[in-house]
Amino acid sequence: MSISWQPRAKEEAEAGAGENAGVRVSIRASAHRTSGEDEDEHITIKMWNANGGQMKAESHGKQTTYIHVSLMSVLVVGIVKDERSFRYSVSKYSCLNGGFNATASSHLVGFARQSISYVEWTITEVALMSSALNDSSMKDAQAFVEVDFDFIVIGGGAAGLPVATRLSENPDVKVGLIEAGVLHSDDPIVYTPRSSEHVNSSNYDWLFATEPQANAHGRVISVPRGKMLGGSTGINYMGWHRASKVEYDAWKLLSDPEGAWDSDEMFYFLKRAEAAVPMSENTYSQDDVADHSFSKGIGTDGPVKISYPEVYADTVPPFIQACNALSIPTNANPYRGNTLGVYPVMKSVDPDSGKRVDAVEAYFVPAASRQNLKVVTGAHATKIEFRPESDGEGKLIASRVQFVVDGKVFVANASKEVILSAGTFQTPQLLELSGIGDAARLTGLSIQPLIDLPSVGENLIDHVFAPVQYEVKPGIRTFGEMWCGVPSHAFDIVSFYFAPDELRNDPVFRAEQEALYESKKTGWMTSTDATAAFTPLKWTVGEPKLVAMVQALEETLKKERDSLSPLQKAQYEIQLDWLRKGETPQVLTVMASMGVINPEQGKSYFTMLSSVQHPFSRGSVHISTNDPLKPPAIDPKCLSEGFDLDTLLAAYRGVEKLVETQPLKSIIERQVFPPTLLMEDKDLAGYIRQVCSSGAHFMGTAAMARRNLGGVVGNDLKVYGTRNLRVADTSIIPLPMSTLTQATAYAIGEKAADLIKQDW
Ligand SMILES: Cc1cc2nc3c(=O)[nH]c(=O)nc-3n(C[C@H](O)[C@H](O)[C@H](O)COP(=O)(O)OP(=O)(O)OC[C@H]3O[C@@H](n4cnc5c(N)ncnc54)[C@H](O)[C@@H]3O)c2cc1C
Repeated sequence: MSISWQPRAKEEAEAGAGENAGVRVSIRASAHRTSGEDEDEHITIKMWNANGGQMKAESHGKQTTYIHVSLMSVLVVGIVKDERSFRYSVSKYSCLNGGFNATASSHLVGFARQSISYVEWTITEVALMSSALNDSSMKDAQAFVEVDFDFIVIGGGAAGLPVATRLSENPDVKVGLIEAGVLHSDDPIVYTPRSSEHVNSSNYDWLFATEPQANAHGRVISVPRGKMLGGSTGINYMGWHRASKVEYDAWKLLSDPEGAWDSDEMFYFLKRAEAAVPMSENTYSQDDVADHSFSKGIGTDGPVKISYPEVYADTVPPFIQACNALSIPTNANPYRGNTLGVYPVMKSVDPDSGKRVDAVEAYFVPAASRQNLKVVTGAHATKIEFRPESDGEGKLIASRVQFVVDGKVFVANASKEVILSAGTFQTPQLLELSGIGDAARLTGLSIQPLIDLPSVGENLIDHVFAPVQYEVKPGIRTFGEMWCGVPSHAFDIVSFYFAPDELRNDPVFRAEQEALYESKKTGWMTSTDATAAFTPLKWTVGEPKLVAMVQALEETLKKERDSLSPLQKAQYEIQLDWLRKGETPQVLTVMASMGVINPEQGKSYFTMLSSVQHPFSRGSVHISTNDPLKPPAIDPKCLSEGFDLDTLLAAYRGVEKLVETQPLKSIIERQVFPPTLLMEDKDLAGYIRQVCSSGAHFMGTAAMARRNLGGVVGNDLKVYGTRNLRVADTSIIPLPMSTLTQATAYAIGEKAADLIKQDW
């Protein structure tokens, strides 16, 4: 088969030719299994150019077909070894993604199959991307450490990229970013909304797992975290949520008054991140589900494009109407500060390109050509070093960051500040590795304690979810293929399968939709589930039961008082107040097209996922070794506070009521998972313990709170006891928030950049 550049791409290549042109190539192929099941077989693909020279080939790991191609060389090797990636590869796209300097235009003229007994590859797209991502920012590790940086940011995720790119708006400062993952530029696995959740591979995910969870039948639960430039924004489900104002206002109740953050601050920075596109009048048949005009509240000029899905599953209108029938009102604009109600959620998807918008697209690509911003990827930060002498107030001064690339240790210098944005698990890990944490713990691991701050890594908070799955009547279209591996095969008894849906059940329709996406970037491939109901517990259980539940909780907390931390005591007062008033959500119910059971061909399903939004359980993340490359011990202690289990029980009973309510009832064929109705609460409790999973919305492990309460950072985000080490990521969120966390993380990054700019 012979391929040549599409004319426009060729022109771009020629225009960009020359030294450091920074042209990127993306080659996309689709693969079809024709026979055989052998997981270990390799797929080898060869390409060569007109000159026939040997190409430089780089394969990243053995699990996927992610491949780097250099245009002036020839060979590309793709290996598909892992059963899971293999399945995705054959059932969806395989992406051969190039991303390197082209110093001249070139023609790919050949493509051959080799050693392919069971897979046929067809090239469906060869495109040359613009040179927006100038490779001059992607220096290697040695070049990186030769720069005298003013600021070093560790971690290029939802918060880290806004910090680094906003700081580099000032051409007089030099900013370095250290990211352990790689850049997946234009990789369809990341950027096609419909395929982008299927990323349970070490090329994209840290693949962390919890410690065995005593209150979840001892299960080890997988906890995904994005490992790439873009962090978890490259693997998340793209839902765009803000918390209610009252929740952001609670932050200041835990902080020193001076400089305390509140909802005004957070809304200002949320708005600065957002570029919202209103819902098109034609998108949704039911009126008044969304404030089409966005006359107030949401940002429209920021870097993160957010939009409503173009397509909704047939299950959505009946879901919303059934909620309404049960007095859960539609909230047409949840972005104004009150999130109660049911609504179609916006997604971080660009409606023009049909692509996921992650932190790379939003923040990095526009800034990538700045000469004062340097990014090193594939670089695992291992330690923050401090000057030998403290400042006049006895505070430590961070000055260098150690990182490892391919087993080699490098050290980079920062003259002004180090900003830690490695996320809720690895920010506390890095603090402890650097000597900041519980002194006894550190000493026990042969780490010299520099600052005794026992609250580092404590206060781990997550939203725990539990599913119930239904088969729908024939003819009802669901999305399916929504969820990959939050509870993974490796760790959980229950695995989440991709539910069959219109795309799976109807190959012709699927082919049409894929072609539509290829040509116009529209259609089903751009859309994913996006409907949620946020309710207070009062709405779910009724006032009398709520009063009884809260009284029982107060009794329990009184008994536990001596073992609670000061931060917990302060948080619980706030959370109890929220519960009693019922003005903030305690339960989130998501309608999702993923499934738990192995789906039957020709049938479609949806799953109701319920979660606790303000849990009372608290866990921790700590190092268990001084080896910086070993994962930390992640122990969310899920359901350790019985009230959280009671909340999930109530939420489940709420779902049972909902599915018996018209018009939702009439589209449901039967409940398929759990396979029997669980009438007794004790059976239901056992089920929840058996299947509950992480919401992947971790927060709290370096809480922004008063030091005497158990805070790790102050309102300026500086780690207590340091002069110039700040934390900017979701670990600073001090208490549980009823929201998915990406928007809040972006806003934290935005605000952090402002705070730092004010100081320098
Ligand atoms: C599967 C999944 C689905 C989700 N769905 C949604 C959703 O629909 N809506 C929503 O609002 N939120 C969602 N979230 C949550 C949201 O994406 C995160 O809360 C948010 O991205 C956290 O931002 P962060 O900056 O704290 O961390 P991250 O975005 O995770 O960034 C941390 C970065 O630090 C890097 N890093 C870590 N350690 C090191 C080290 N030692 N050296 C160098 N680099 C390091 C990581 O590789 C990563 O790039 C989801 C998350 C996941 C995992």
